[in-house]
Amino acid sequence: MQFTWDDIEQHVAVCTGCPLSRTRRRPVMGRGSRKADIMLIAEAPGGQEDRQGTPFVGDSGKILDDLLRDCGLCREEIYITNILKCHPPGNRDPKEEEKEACFPYLKYETFLLKPKIIVCLGRVAAQRIISPDFKITRQHGSWISRKNCALTATYHPSAVLRDISKYELVKKDFLEIARKRNELGGGGVP
Ligand code: SF4
Repeated sequence: MQFTWDDIEQHVAVCTGCPLSRTRRRPVMGRGSRKADIMLIAEAPGGQEDRQGTPFVGDSGKILDDLLRDCGLCREEIYITNILKCHPPGNRDPKEEEKEACFPYLKYETFLLKPKIIVCLGRVAAQRIISPDFKITRQHGSWISRKNCALTATYHPSAVLRDISKYELVKKDFLEIARKRNELGGGGVP
């Protein structure tokens, strides 16, 4: 059976696939251009996202917007999502069983989007998507290639919020992402 974006959205909206369905306020489906070359994947919605049902709102969202703007990118030309679609209480790390329960949604999003570039935001996403032993401090900004897709990772914008000195480091990674997008022939608002 071929899933559509609407199918995924409808399933996520009423999903009870893991215990987070009992504590979330609103599931948070990915947002952005469904023709984007670049897909950003973080670990899970935060408290503000849980209240609004939208990824990357609030202070982390502002940092992300600043980073994108400083690198000549904008939200309208990327797709942003999370491994988990529901907020873990207290912003704790997602549990393995929660990640596994929710992973099919991410797979469908990736299948439908077919991004040229996947950017993992933070350790949890990088270790689930790129490699279980990925070290964000040492390996952020590095690239691997998988199934016609270039994958990289950088710090989550919330890490920049906690330590603003990381801004320039993460900006360098985003400049490299913009350069890679141009190299792969992407660009422009789809
Ligand atoms: S986190 Fe994912 S699997 Fe768990 S209830 Fe939410 S949408 Fe369903």
